[in-house]
Amino acid sequence: MTGLINAIPATNKDEYKNVGVYIEHRGDELKRPSIEMIGIGKQLARKVNEKLICVVIGDKVDGIAKEVGEYGCDIVLAAESPELAEYRTMPYAEIIGGYIQEYKPNIFLLAATRNGRDLASRIAVKSRTGITADCTVLDIDENRTLLANRPTYGESTLAEILCRNHRPQMATARPGIFPPAEKEKDHKYEVIKKKVDVDKKLLGKQILKFIPRKSTDLTSAKIVVAGGLGLGGPDGFKMLEELANLIGGAVGSSRPPVDLGWITRDHQVGQTGQSVRPDLYIAVGISGKPQHIAGMKFSKVIVSINKDPNAEITKYSDYIITEDYRKVIPALIDAIKNSKK
Ligand code: FAD
Repeated sequence: MTGLINAIPATNKDEYKNVGVYIEHRGDELKRPSIEMIGIGKQLARKVNEKLICVVIGDKVDGIAKEVGEYGCDIVLAAESPELAEYRTMPYAEIIGGYIQEYKPNIFLLAATRNGRDLASRIAVKSRTGITADCTVLDIDENRTLLANRPTYGESTLAEILCRNHRPQMATARPGIFPPAEKEKDHKYEVIKKKVDVDKKLLGKQILKFIPRKSTDLTSAKIVVAGGLGLGGPDGFKMLEELANLIGGAVGSSRPPVDLGWITRDHQVGQTGQSVRPDLYIAVGISGKPQHIAGMKFSKVIVSINKDPNAEITKYSDYIITEDYRKVIPALIDAIKNSKK
């Protein structure tokens, strides 16, 4: 890390140990990106014989704290207050900043979700340290230095970024890239719970009611049928939706159809959308630009349907169908319907 951060005196690195992870949940539901963070956090901590410490914030968090422990966390720090039931930037940042001061983790990770990104920079500033955002590869060396890798120059290069002088070493990681942690039978963990008196000034606005937006979580889909600009308009997505429904899949999109309003942003796959790793990814009318590939290259099987035999996507495809999608998709739908009769 160079620049401004070097103006801040270096921290005494020996005081910092263990790996911290911020856990996102909604009520009793642990968010999948956080299960991925537990997975990578556990891996880093165990590589240098340190502990994984997870921070859970909310109202009535016993259930979530237990689940986090079962996933292999060693110490769960649970902060509870009815006023923390919904995510609130300032009090959450204050609590995590306080935990960092008290427990001094060598590394602190958050998922690069909306809330994770919102929190990460505030915590980094409070902790007077640097942060590497949107990592896709994380490792640790024998000196306990975090090797934080993130794509750069339009996904064409992977940059390894080190935070040499300040602690904790912070990173956010892209959802859908790291495999989720597995539960560990009989794993011993400790929950340290505290009731928090939330400073009303930090709450800012009052939340009267939380109405969750219906959004598409592509990260847990086993099959994704994604459409691109080659669909020619929103009607193309209706066709893809019919196919996806028949095979138990979800509909994804490249970015241009989202920008054009053919489909909502929660369907976007790629660098600035969701990262997916389904068993089957069907790319329809998508050229395969690096920013799209970044979000789907870990799919097990990739099928592309494209008029252009030389489209970039063919390099990543296990099966290539060179044809107008308007001929291929209806034929597929008919064949699947007939096979179900
Ligand atoms: P195109 O590149 O126009 O490709 C359309 C394809 O459809 C062509 O290959 C064509 O041969 C084929 N086609 C046309 N008609 C038919 C037909 N009838 N049947 C079959 N095939 C047909 N993009 C993303 O997807 N996700 C991101 O997260 C993302 N983030 C970005 C971030 C930044 C900072 C930038 C600069 C760009 C980002 N982009 C992203 C945009 C990206 O660079 C490309 O512009 C985009 O992925 C191209 O989308 P596309 O493949 O749908 O369209």
